[in-house]
This record gives sequence, structure tokens and C-alpha cells, in this order.
Amino acid sequence: MIALPPLPYSYDALEPHIDKLTVEIHYTKHHKGYYDKLVAALAGYPDLAKKPLLQLLTGLSEVPAEIRTSVRNNGGGLWAHTFFWESMCHNGSLLDPEGNLARAISRDFGSFEAFEKQFKAAAAAVFGSGWTWLVHDTQGKLSIRSTPGHDLPQVDGFEPLLVIDVWEHAYYLKYQNRRPEFIDNWWQLIDWAAVEKRIKT
Ligand code: MN
Repeated sequence: MIALPPLPYSYDALEPHIDKLTVEIHYTKHHKGYYDKLVAALAGYPDLAKKPLLQLLTGLSEVPAEIRTSVRNNGGGLWAHTFFWESMCHNGSLLDPEGNLARAISRDFGSFEAFEKQFKAAAAAVFGSGWTWLVHDTQGKLSIRSTPGHDLPQVDGFEPLLVIDVWEHAYYLKYQNRRPEFIDNWWQLIDWAAVEKRIKT
């Protein structure tokens, strides 16, 4: 079932790190735009429109060729933005140092500081438009992956835990070309409690 989930907070909830106007445009124009285009692409395919979005996106070979690219791009954009909003909260939340997530980060990256450095460097290094994800594989091992466009890590068999949108529309109004500064400030907004809940134990 295709739906545009509501933004989980007000447009100004992420100030000062992400400004109100950027959030408003990002949600009401970009995120909603992907939703609208996906709905339009699926208009002639009622059976596909009833399927869960992730099922469509991880089974693109079963989507008719004439709408496959639109479903991939707009459907991926719809899914990834929802996940992005739900990865942040006002002022961020603290990582539970005793929790599963903290333990997995230490195990797979050596330390939280090493993970933070590696994640930020990966996000800064994305060429053009894309996303950087913290994911885990079927064994629960964590890694950092970047995807171009609106491609999702689930397509390659990884489950996402956290994501940052590094398309220019995510930061250009406030940060212009200073993507690393945006990444540093976005880091303050991460809802670690939400990320932790995504770990399947
Ligand atoms: Mn975006």
C-alpha cells in the first residue's frame, strides 16, 4: 500500500542544525513529489499499487519495464525519506552505552569514535546525489554503505539502521557547498533510540 507518512515532528523541530524552510521544502516538495510521481506511475497497475512498497523495490524485475525506473527512483525516494525523518529527533537522543547497538558498533568498528569518523567520511565522499547508510547483514555485522540516487541497501541484502540524505536539496539553503558541516550538525540530531530499535535481536 503506497502512502506518504506524515513528518514525525514540526518543520522547525530540527533547528538550528536543519532549518525550518529546508525541512518544509524537503518534505512538502521533494518527499511528497516522489510519492506523487510513484502514485502516477502505478496508476495503471492496481495490483502493484496494493503491494508493500519495499516488496516492489526489492523485486523490481517483476515490475513492468515501462515503469521500472520510475518505481525505483520515486519509490526509493519515498521509502528512504521516511526512514531519514525517522532517524532524527529534536536535539537527538543519546546512544545507550550498554545497549546492543553500542556493543555492535564497538565490535565492528573498534570504537564509536572510529565509526563516527568513518560514517562522516563516507557521507562527505558521496559523489553527486545519494545516501549513506549504517546497515547490518544477515549475520548482524554492521557496515557503512553509500547508494546513488534513491537506491536502497535492501536490494543488496542489507538492512538499514540509520541514513543521511546527502542530496544537495537536503542542505543547500543553509550550508550551500559545505556538506561536511551539514553532516557534523546532522550528527547531533540522530535518534539513537530509534536506530537501536531497528536492530533485530
Ligand atoms: Mn532528499
